[in-house]
Amino acid sequence: MIDLIDKLCREKTLTAEEFVFLIENRNDKYAEILFERARKARKENYGTDIYIRGLIEFSNYCKNDCYYCGIRKSNPNALRYRLSEEEILSCCDKAYGLGFRTFVLQGGEDGHFTPEKMEAIIKKIKSAYPDSALTLSFGEHPRDVYKSWYDAGADRYLLRHETADEEHYKLLHPESLSLANRMRCLWDLKEIGYQVGCGFMVDSPYQTAERIAKDLLFIANFKPDMVGIGPFIPACDTPFSDKLSGSVSLTLYLLAIIRIILPDVLLPATTALATRDSLGLEKGILAGANVIMPNISPKEAKEKYALYEGKRYTDGAAEDALKNLSERMEKIGYKIVTSRGDKKGRIYNV
Ligand code: SAM
Repeated sequence: MIDLIDKLCREKTLTAEEFVFLIENRNDKYAEILFERARKARKENYGTDIYIRGLIEFSNYCKNDCYYCGIRKSNPNALRYRLSEEEILSCCDKAYGLGFRTFVLQGGEDGHFTPEKMEAIIKKIKSAYPDSALTLSFGEHPRDVYKSWYDAGADRYLLRHETADEEHYKLLHPESLSLANRMRCLWDLKEIGYQVGCGFMVDSPYQTAERIAKDLLFIANFKPDMVGIGPFIPACDTPFSDKLSGSVSLTLYLLAIIRIILPDVLLPATTALATRDSLGLEKGILAGANVIMPNISPKEAKEKYALYEGKRYTDGAAEDALKNLSERMEKIGYKIVTSRGDKKGRIYNV
């Protein structure tokens, strides 16, 4: 096993069989070794800095019906909302004052936000905050739409691939969605020039070590700028409402492996991880993550953007939440910084 970890550190990838072995023979001792190597890689690239992203969940209307997702079209009990352009800008304004220099617009695939409306919002945000980065996480679109948003100033795009295994993709999604189109989107985004993020849920229904190995091989080959992984958490009123929640320890183990595969990747300790474990953010950072995405949406939106059960969000004043987060990170030897927090060596979208 140690030989395999050494090989991973040296070659930044393994064969599918070796990844399966690494996953299936996971124990606390090997996890600690991986965390240590991951922290070393992270420190070489980002020191002890933690980048923060202001997450704005701007709509929970969605035309898609992903079996795992609480805001899927067919969930009659989802309380739907969308933020107005003014509300989105007001979130950015508050967050900017607190030191955020990246805003993430995430939403269900809501047709109300046409490509033109999004373009206008992107331009307004970028002209109001030219020193800040804008990340979109708004699902699958044609290449020309992605290009128009990039030309309008969007810098980054998060689109988890969800699983790199064709059969698994079909078990998680209705027929209208395909792995081929998800991959087409990711490659288009990369070619256009976005800093691109892919990722997957850990322990999603029907996931196996072999399927995770495919995810890791895809990540090693695609070389994304960002990778978002977090445990699957069942959502009420979805086909997977009775499935088990994903493992925190496997999530941490995979965070470390991903950091070793891509030493300079932007790697968040995600909300789902924080939901499953009250110390999830600290544990994620200590496993190699370097990004945290506090939710800066209005309270009502935070409550209604219910992707899964018990989703954790901070209530009360955003200043207090950020101060509390800073203190928590300082306790483990890391510091939140005011910065766009680009991937090391990436050229800005200017
Ligand atoms: N519509 C956009 C998209 O498709 O990328 C962004 C919104 S989507 C809700 C964001 C991510 O939430 C998904 O990529 C998925 O991995 C995650 N997610 C959805 N349901 C989840 C669940 N039950 N547990 C954990 N993560 C979940």
